[in-house]
Amino acid sequence: MNLLRSLRLRLTLWYILLLALILAAFSAGIYLRLRHNLYASLDDSLETRADELLVLMRFEAGRPTLAGAVPEENQDADDQYVRVFDASGGITFDNGLSSIGRPDDERLRAALDGRATISAVDGPGAAFRTRLAPILESGEVAGALAVGRTEDDVTDTLDGLLLVLGLSYPATLALASLGGVFLAGRALAPIDRLTRVARRISAEDLSRRLDLRLPDDEVGRLARTFDEMLDRLDRAFRQQRQFTSDASHELRTPLTAMKGQVEVALSRERSTDDYRGVLRLVNDEVDRLIRLVGSLLSLARADAGEIALRREDVDVGDLVRAACEQVRPLAADRGLGLEVEAGGAVTVRADQDLLLQLLLNLLDNALKYTPAGGRIAAGWRPAGAGAEVSVSNTGPGIAPEELPRIFDRFYRVDKARSRAEGGAGLGLSIAKWIAEAHGGTLTAASEPDRGVTFTVALPPGDDGR
Ligand code: ADP
Repeated sequence: MNLLRSLRLRLTLWYILLLALILAAFSAGIYLRLRHNLYASLDDSLETRADELLVLMRFEAGRPTLAGAVPEENQDADDQYVRVFDASGGITFDNGLSSIGRPDDERLRAALDGRATISAVDGPGAAFRTRLAPILESGEVAGALAVGRTEDDVTDTLDGLLLVLGLSYPATLALASLGGVFLAGRALAPIDRLTRVARRISAEDLSRRLDLRLPDDEVGRLARTFDEMLDRLDRAFRQQRQFTSDASHELRTPLTAMKGQVEVALSRERSTDDYRGVLRLVNDEVDRLIRLVGSLLSLARADAGEIALRREDVDVGDLVRAACEQVRPLAADRGLGLEVEAGGAVTVRADQDLLLQLLLNLLDNALKYTPAGGRIAAGWRPAGAGAEVSVSNTGPGIAPEELPRIFDRFYRVDKARSRAEGGAGLGLSIAKWIAEAHGGTLTAASEPDRGVTFTVALPPGDDGR
């Protein structure tokens, strides 16, 4: 909340600072531009006036004068004056405003040297803009003409502008700042809402969503991304909880069975054979526990990303044959046919041990779920740059609605039967993980009464991935 407030404050302050700078630059620009233009037009008017007077200039004994041509007494009001100098700097004409002194020698000399200058001269109650220029008579400098006009108009206009700018600057800044505070508040309000709602969502209550109906802008997208993240977290947490509860359940079953056996055995004196029988049963349950814990460990390590693939060149045909040889005695025990359907030679870069485990999991399932007298077939073929391995078996098959779920952890179509066979519903999860860790896929296809086919698609590995 504090942060939010300070963000709002910071945004507003930045905004005001920038605005103040821009306004200041803008005002200064206007002022300087106008000032420049006003002086330029004042100078223009002085030059025009001087040109008019030069036409009227008369020469008496070589000395220029305006006497008789322009009224000597200033009738042009006291805001302008005209003065004529001869070549030696003496005044030959002056139409008043004599309170304005002679121009300084330097400027007069410049004019008599043939150069015009413009300067400000202090006059009665106002500054005068004065133009001092040479008077030429047949190409020779015969004197100088000074024409002056007050700067009152210019300074009045500039002062007026300065007043307007001086008043409107703080007013505009104040108004814009209020607007800035309001806008920053408005823009950040949804974040405030987001924070409040997010604070109410705890790890125990991940089903809640922000569900803020915000427009599709930055904040709206943030809220939606947050909700999507919650979705994923919620799912992950649920799976985790489900997994823990399923795992505990699976562990408890063999433990309960052992406890029962042991209690019955201890309830009275028994023969050595009886004890041996109980120990055998306990031994079977311990085997089951070891397998289960092994599977759980594999999955946990896979989830944690701890299993690194040790890739090497694997001849897929050899691997399938080896797996089949391992389970052949079991198949024979159960009266099941086991065939190897050889395909073309194909090699992939893969982790041999993991691939063998994958195949054994599939074959183990086939052994468990193929009805007596049935047939199991394992085959391979090159597919694309990689390989495809299939394990199929005869039997009733798997119902279409069950198919997508058999890869879920602890999922068993027929719980009682699967448990009797020693399965905990983890074999296919592990097999699928192995296929995917290699960048491949594991899929199942089944038609009623025509058995099941599992297909592993493997990319060539390493560079092919
Ligand atoms: P389990 O340890 O129970 O075998 P799996 O993950 O290996 O666990 O298999 C999940 C379920 O999929 C099994 O319980 C079984 O119902 C079904 N299933 C797996 N393989 C086959 C198969 N070859 N034929 C029929 N059903 C199968």
